[in-house]
Amino acid sequence: MIPLSTDPCQDTDWKKALATAIRQPSELLRAVGLRTQQLPEPIDDSAVFPLRVPRVYVERMRHGDPADPLLRQVLALRREHETPAGYSLDPVGDGPATRRPGLLQKYHGRALIVTTGACPIHCRYCFRRHYPYGEAHAGTDDWRKTLAHIAADASISEVILSGGDPLSLDTPRLRTLSEGLHDIPHIRRLRIHTRMPVVLPQRIDNEFLAWLAGLPWRTVVVIHANHANEIDDAVRRCLRRIQAANATLLNQAVLLQGVNDSLQALTNLGENLFESGVLPYYLHLLDKVQGGAHFAVNDTHACELMEQLRRQLPGYLVPRLVREQAGAPYKQHIIVSGH
Ligand SMILES: *Cc1c(COP(=O)(O)O)cnc(C)c1O
Ligand code: SF4
Repeated sequence: MIPLSTDPCQDTDWKKALATAIRQPSELLRAVGLRTQQLPEPIDDSAVFPLRVPRVYVERMRHGDPADPLLRQVLALRREHETPAGYSLDPVGDGPATRRPGLLQKYHGRALIVTTGACPIHCRYCFRRHYPYGEAHAGTDDWRKTLAHIAADASISEVILSGGDPLSLDTPRLRTLSEGLHDIPHIRRLRIHTRMPVVLPQRIDNEFLAWLAGLPWRTVVVIHANHANEIDDAVRRCLRRIQAANATLLNQAVLLQGVNDSLQALTNLGENLFESGVLPYYLHLLDKVQGGAHFAVNDTHACELMEQLRRQLPGYLVPRLVREQAGAPYKQHIIVSGH
């Protein structure tokens, strides 16, 4: 049963919250009580991948702290224009894995639909920050062809809705898509990759939960939180409601310099996720995307953190440290040598 409560997170119209998202670095700084001179480096007021952050997310930032881990994830910096060696526009090989516009397949049995290019938030480290959504996401007209492709390939047992953020689409559009998948007998699981429950919990409204609970498959919802401070009470309530709607909840995070590259940050994240009904899944090493280099954590430090984390937490709260390697048959697990 879905609790049809009058939860306060139901009251706000999520589309309005998206429309009033902050889009200017200077406005964001004002909202958190900072002046540009307090930052260690210049901001970028004219980013090609523009700043975008909803106010409910900004409210979770520490006021007056230039090193706030949530602020760092979204603040556009001038140095994103640097082009260090080894950083590219398509670091994970999405181009070569494109089966048709809006459909990626890299791994056995799993097909990923790029449902939309829209995101509720623009994460500066995003590996798809240069993805050519205009030409390559599956418009509704195109879904028919994408579904036909999946229907013709009986080796596909899991469909992943991704983007962008698939929850940027409204629920009737998600329903159109899932109804198209109903008729394909070889689909056994549906997976949804979304940052929306963390960024804008209002999106998880009763209409969405009813859709989720009515799906004919076991569903996996993979959220994306990098820091414990992202998970406040409203987020926690919404995550519990997703779980009550019969979905398995997992989290993927990216290991980010200055955001979560400490034992304390990763421990707190694991604990907070668990209290919200979510298990850690992947901890991604940064994909080497142009503009994201200042978030890089080197492999040695990443492995040290994992070793410390293992000593600290139960095994089920330790994420798998992975790197996506273009062309590889699965995400590469980085093995931490034991002591
Ligand atoms: C990451 C990814 C998946 C999912 O991989 P899992 O290891 O099953 O989580 C599937 N398809 C594509 C294209 C991906 O990038
Ligand atoms: S929500 Fe996901 S896809 Fe969108 S900008 Fe952030 S990391 Fe990228």
